[in-house]
Amino acid sequence: MRIETLRQRLRALGANPRHEQRVLRLWSQALPQTAGKRQVEHFLPAPLVAELPAITEELAALARLESEHPGEDGSARLLVRLGDGQLVESVLLPRDGLCVSTQVGCAVGCTFCMTGTTGLIRQVGSAEIVAQVALARTKRPVKKVVFMGMGEPAHNLDNVMEAIELLGTAGNIGHKNLVFSTVGDPRVFETLPRGPVKPALALSLHTTRADLREQLLPRAPRLTPEELVEAGETYARATGYPIQYQWTLLDGVNDSDDEIEGIVRLLSGRYAILNMIPFNTVEGMPYVRPSWEKAADIARRLHRRGILTKLRQSAGQDVDGGCGQLRARAQKPERP
Ligand code: SF4
Repeated sequence: MRIETLRQRLRALGANPRHEQRVLRLWSQALPQTAGKRQVEHFLPAPLVAELPAITEELAALARLESEHPGEDGSARLLVRLGDGQLVESVLLPRDGLCVSTQVGCAVGCTFCMTGTTGLIRQVGSAEIVAQVALARTKRPVKKVVFMGMGEPAHNLDNVMEAIELLGTAGNIGHKNLVFSTVGDPRVFETLPRGPVKPALALSLHTTRADLREQLLPRAPRLTPEELVEAGETYARATGYPIQYQWTLLDGVNDSDDEIEGIVRLLSGRYAILNMIPFNTVEGMPYVRPSWEKAADIARRLHRRGILTKLRQSAGQDVDGGCGQLRARAQKPERP
């Protein structure tokens, strides 16, 4: 379901923009039913009040909790069943963050990502994206939403922008706490600055070598690392938020001295943070996780050269932490 379809339905039931906002606020913030009921009966038109239980039920059915997998780091991976039975993952992050999925599967096919192995199965609708937030808010407060789960948000741009607009208004999330994560697509750099809610931007860099990037991200748009950083810098200066460059560290692949020099060349003086995340080993994938000591040494060397680098664990990595692994496991046929 699109949020716009929901809005049209509310309007057809007599809602004015304030009523509409009130219903969207109750839903997206998962406000307690009792407070909601009182407000609803006082302030909404009668046809809408009559229809509201059915609408509430439909919205709850957009994203239901299939299973929850707490990690040792305070995160929790949620396997979420969408209305048509498809499964996606959301991750409750430490410090009130939530990572949501924007597609079932993904067409980019990054060679280090389980989600990329399935190809694109379907888009996640804007209301289904917000429903992941509403579901998470029944468990914990959510003050930050990162669009870094399954899928490439740039390939589902209309739905993601609609969800961002709602979350940044009725959903009560600060605009810089909405983080659009992409491999880099020219449409993103055209669309994001025009939106009423401008999210922060995370760009998947992973290497400073154009040829290696083509191998690692085989169906990403053919922007060179230089072009990507140039476009990112323009957006960072326009919004006042630094770009978060993502770097999945693969042992022996993108952790060489040449790469470190490349990063220094590319990011020196840029309004940027480099997030380094050691690869989470996945059975059957041709990559190895580097030791934490090695990763920490790379981060220290970059820091000394003036690059703001944060070394991060993939959240909940003790519970099949790589994006798409929970879904893949849930869909494996049971062994007899
Ligand atoms: Fe898609 Fe992101 Fe996985 Fe790449 S890392 S295949 S963009 S979900």
